[in-house]
Amino acid sequence: MAQRRHPPGARQRAGSARGHRPGADVTTFIPGEPWSTGVARAADGSVTVGGVGVRTLASQHGTPAYVLDEADLRARARGYRRAFETAFAEIGAGIDVYYAGKAFLSVAVARWVHEEGLRVDTATGGELAVALRAGIPGAHLGLHGNNKSDAEIARALDAGVGRIIVDSLVEVDRVADAVAARGGAPAPVMVRVTTGVHAGGHEYISTAHEDQKFGLSIASPDGDSPAMQGLLKVLARPELRLLGIHSHIGSQILDPSGFEVAARAVLTLRARLAERTGVQVEEVDLGGGYGIAYLPGEVALDPDRIAKDIAGSVEASNAELGTALPRFSIEPGRAIVGPAGLTLYTVGTVKPVRLDDGRTRTYVSVDGGMSDNLRPALYGARYHAEVVGRRASMQTVLARVVGKHCESGDIVVHEVQLPADIRAGDLLAVAATGAYGRSMASNYNHVPRPPVVGVAKGTSRVLVRRETEDDLLALDLG
Ligand SMILES: *Cc1c(COP(=O)(O)O)cnc(C)c1O
Repeated sequence: MAQRRHPPGARQRAGSARGHRPGADVTTFIPGEPWSTGVARAADGSVTVGGVGVRTLASQHGTPAYVLDEADLRARARGYRRAFETAFAEIGAGIDVYYAGKAFLSVAVARWVHEEGLRVDTATGGELAVALRAGIPGAHLGLHGNNKSDAEIARALDAGVGRIIVDSLVEVDRVADAVAARGGAPAPVMVRVTTGVHAGGHEYISTAHEDQKFGLSIASPDGDSPAMQGLLKVLARPELRLLGIHSHIGSQILDPSGFEVAARAVLTLRARLAERTGVQVEEVDLGGGYGIAYLPGEVALDPDRIAKDIAGSVEASNAELGTALPRFSIEPGRAIVGPAGLTLYTVGTVKPVRLDDGRTRTYVSVDGGMSDNLRPALYGARYHAEVVGRRASMQTVLARVVGKHCESGDIVVHEVQLPADIRAGDLLAVAATGAYGRSMASNYNHVPRPPVVGVAKGTSRVLVRRETEDDLLALDLG
């Protein structure tokens, strides 16, 4: 997933200003995106999150630690819900916002988003277990997955989930058979379709055919498309109630047109099904993927604007098709939790490396790495980092932040200007790590996974505790 380098912005102007003030004893840190809204600079030049100083966080909870700004996360959840409810109310449609739990799920976070009026999507039995532990009613939960186990399907049925999103023709039968075996009311299902629109980064591509594992294609070279077959198959099974059609086109999307093209394709499929069977499905889910800022100068999708654009476009498509508007749903994950999180590391080895072009790159090693943030290694994702525990030099060096793992690809921040006086013991924060950080973390090199610390109103509390070596050894039966 390529991400563009940010255009010249306030931060870069500040960066060059540093060059004009060599050695000035002022911190380089500037709050604002990509940092959470609760990030600020204290009088002594250090940084606070939700009113708690990073030095306090580090001494109380250790490093590395994921820090989640509760007020910021809640405001984003509320912001998405309000934006979409308002825009869709204007076209006369209802909408539900599901938080995509795979971005990061813990009992506390599930509660926060639910208190802000969101529902929760899960993709595995484990995610479902966390959402249920948080006390979220089954009716407000969804279960996704392209390869659900029998146990996961049974658990979703036990919990009375509001929707199971079926991903293949065989799964239609598997869910229906599970309902038949246990008896009870028909299970509400949505059929996940692929529209040929793939988006991520800044562009989207629309192709007729699909070469990926999710969903059922709406392309129909001959006869019914797999998507239409799936819908007809659900209608044919009395153990299932066809709730709707689901489409998710990608992640970290900053160009809204992909959503509109996909929504049109889904509404068209819905109209074709209605012509064919007389059934107008109740609900259309437009998926998640709303992009955020990872670097200074990058601009996140604005929920108010994108909600208006999508609502306007579905209204137009629907009017052309002559169908009654369905209820809608969306599933943002990253856009809710990503910007609310940062990772706090302690700097260890600092090593200058001479490059072929004569420049020097300063390798800054931190006490975590690809085990707590896989995204740079997995997709070349870009992040921003700052020295946050003290006033630092205004003079900067070209730096690369690396982890402690036995892989040269163990990179946390590929390229960033860091204070020239960076040294062992400094606290370094990486911005916007709330999504797909802890949730993709591993124990590579037997490194215990960091805690998730929530901060709000000047206090911090551990939401997910740090793993210990005892936790790791408990799994090893010798
Ligand atoms: C991953 C995923 C999401 C959330 O994507 P974000 O980029 O985190 O918003 C939503 N729906 C489905 C089906 C997904 O797979």
